[in-house]
Amino acid sequence: MLRFHNYDIVFQEIPGEVTLAINISNCPNRCKGCHSPHLQDDKGEILDESALENLLEKYGNAITCVCFMGGDGSPDDVLKLARFVRRRKGELLFVLIKTAWYSGKPELYQNAQHYFDYIKLGKYIEKLGGLNSPTTNQRFYRIENATMIDMTDRFYKH
Ligand code: SF4
Repeated sequence: MLRFHNYDIVFQEIPGEVTLAINISNCPNRCKGCHSPHLQDDKGEILDESALENLLEKYGNAITCVCFMGGDGSPDDVLKLARFVRRRKGELLFVLIKTAWYSGKPELYQNAQHYFDYIKLGKYIEKLGGLNSPTTNQRFYRIENATMIDMTDRFYKH
């Protein structure tokens, strides 16, 4: 079961999208220098289809993307919710909401490329920096027809 600590409307996490970013707790990755240690605890409100639908009813007209920030402890639940957003999109053709996942795992979970328009992979390694560092180990992909296109360089500070 997923829980979330909070959510926010953000503009930089997914380039070109207005994103509802949902910060999921119970992160198992334990990165040294973790920027959000509070997300390592299993706390917060339950994140299920009903909670997500409430958020989409509130913000669905203002956003272009939903991003699941974390959830590596229950990846199947993340996939299930991404599918829920996409099915909802199918029912409401005028609401074209994309799906994204910020995972801290180094490799893609099973067939996750079929559920998302964007995926970030890789844990946070302090000395290499986050996505905006040219030395980062993390990768950010746009997904088109299940093909992952690396666009990490969009985050670099030149
Ligand atoms: S994946 Fe993110 S939240 Fe989880 S331990 Fe690493 S930095 Fe912290």
